[in-house]
Amino acid sequence: ASNAAAVAALLLEEGVAPTDVVSAIGEFAGAGRRQEEVFHGAGIRVYEDYGHHPEEIEVTLDAMNRVCARRLLVAFQPHKYTRTRFLLSRFAKSFHAADKVWITDVYPAGEVEIPGVNGGALAEAVSATGQPAEFVPGLDQLAKELRSEVCEGDVVLFLGAGDITQAARALADELEDELMDKKQELLTELIAELTEECVVLMDEPMAKRTTLRVGGPADFYVEPDSEQTLSKTLKFCARHKMPFRIIGRGSNLLVRDGGFRGLAICLRKPAFSLIEVDGDQVSCGAGARLKQVANAAKQNGLGGLEFLEGIPGSIGGALRMNAGAMGGATFDSLVSLRYMSRDGEIRESLAKDVEAGYRSCPMFREHIALGAVFRCEPADSKDIQEKMNACSRKRWDSQPAAPSAGCMFKNPDSIPAGKLVDELGLKGKQIGGAMVSDVHGNFVVNAGGARAEDVLELIEFVKEKARAERGIELRTEVEIIGEDAA
Ligand code: FAD
Repeated sequence: ASNAAAVAALLLEEGVAPTDVVSAIGEFAGAGRRQEEVFHGAGIRVYEDYGHHPEEIEVTLDAMNRVCARRLLVAFQPHKYTRTRFLLSRFAKSFHAADKVWITDVYPAGEVEIPGVNGGALAEAVSATGQPAEFVPGLDQLAKELRSEVCEGDVVLFLGAGDITQAARALADELEDELMDKKQELLTELIAELTEECVVLMDEPMAKRTTLRVGGPADFYVEPDSEQTLSKTLKFCARHKMPFRIIGRGSNLLVRDGGFRGLAICLRKPAFSLIEVDGDQVSCGAGARLKQVANAAKQNGLGGLEFLEGIPGSIGGALRMNAGAMGGATFDSLVSLRYMSRDGEIRESLAKDVEAGYRSCPMFREHIALGAVFRCEPADSKDIQEKMNACSRKRWDSQPAAPSAGCMFKNPDSIPAGKLVDELGLKGKQIGGAMVSDVHGNFVVNAGGARAEDVLELIEFVKEKARAERGIELRTEVEIIGEDAA
């Protein structure tokens, strides 16, 4: 952070624009073997670092302690006999921030061995300060010892400029294999609990399931075929303390490149997508596509849902987002809704009892929408069709055809976000494969081969410009989920 601050200060002094500094630094992903994360999973993180001087060790341990939920386990390979001999007493006091320490043999780096100067002597000197340290001469043995010690919540740090990297990689590989085995077991269990009609996948790329076409994999992906199997899926998640996330048509989601740990549930099977019309009421399942709902209303001479035509989402997503367009919003004509709680219980509420605001219905952060009933106005089918055509025309004229997640930013009070982006001269601005649409300033499109990190960087770029030049704090309407790629 201080290196980055120094570079930023120098560049600003030289007259480089703040946004250019941000995007240049944003691309820097860190140097190899400098606090480099080599494994992250099952609540365990493994890092390696080149630090081999007492001061480097102290500051690195200090930094690592800040990301450590439980214990900081440190393995150190002394580098060179001469350094170990001259700095022995300082090395001995460098590990006080660790919870447990292992010291290996000295990495000679071409030096001739100095009798009496070795890892064992250093381990004893460290232990003499009150910080117990174990001497483990070989790297294979080191990786094994750490594997038997490390638990959920721990951070393991391998320190040294020699070949200790081999032990770091061996532990990371071992943990990776175990994680895969565990995942495979969970998949087998999940498949056994659900019916054959359910879709159950592992490591499903979210780029396939979102309209922006970016994003890494969800650990598991399930399309239940009934409310019963949905409930079983939720119980499976609860039993394994596995986070889950409901995905509709993925038209308002930006999933980071590392995907997300847990289970994605998508209600797109027929049982969740039924649409029924009774009198002036349209009942539909959460998986029903908005376009089909609008069409079903039209076919039955019912108006009021024309605005749904052209919003590429599902009823579930539209309820969560209180989606709206052309002056209408989902909750405007909603009568009642059906939903499932996290423990699998089904409930119903009248729409008037549920809080919903601009592009949000907070209740669905916690509950899963199963269906909705809308009350419509009888109207002439021709008039309805005309309204729907007008909605489509407006979209075709003003929105890009390239993959996107719709409007990226919520409209600030003072100015529509698209107009603001246009006035800032950012239409067409591109980072990697992500581009601010040159048709509509509030759309970020995937211009080809975009990664989530390109989109995120572009979002930050636009936000920074809006902040610096207009004092406006933009907030994203698109929901950003998941984790960055390792
Ligand atoms: P997703 O994007 O899959 O999910 C959105 C949120 O809803 C997530 O938090 C998800 O967890 C949650 N969710 C989904 N299903 C359920 C469920 N069953 N229960 C509980 N939570 C659930 N939006 C507008 O409002 N107006 C527009 O005019 C508009 N135009 C768009 C144009 C384009 C080209 C695109 C790509 C998007 C547009 N959007 C618009 C955004 C988006 O289509 C809407 O927000 C839509 O309602 C999202 O539905 P979805 O099924 O795709 O939800």
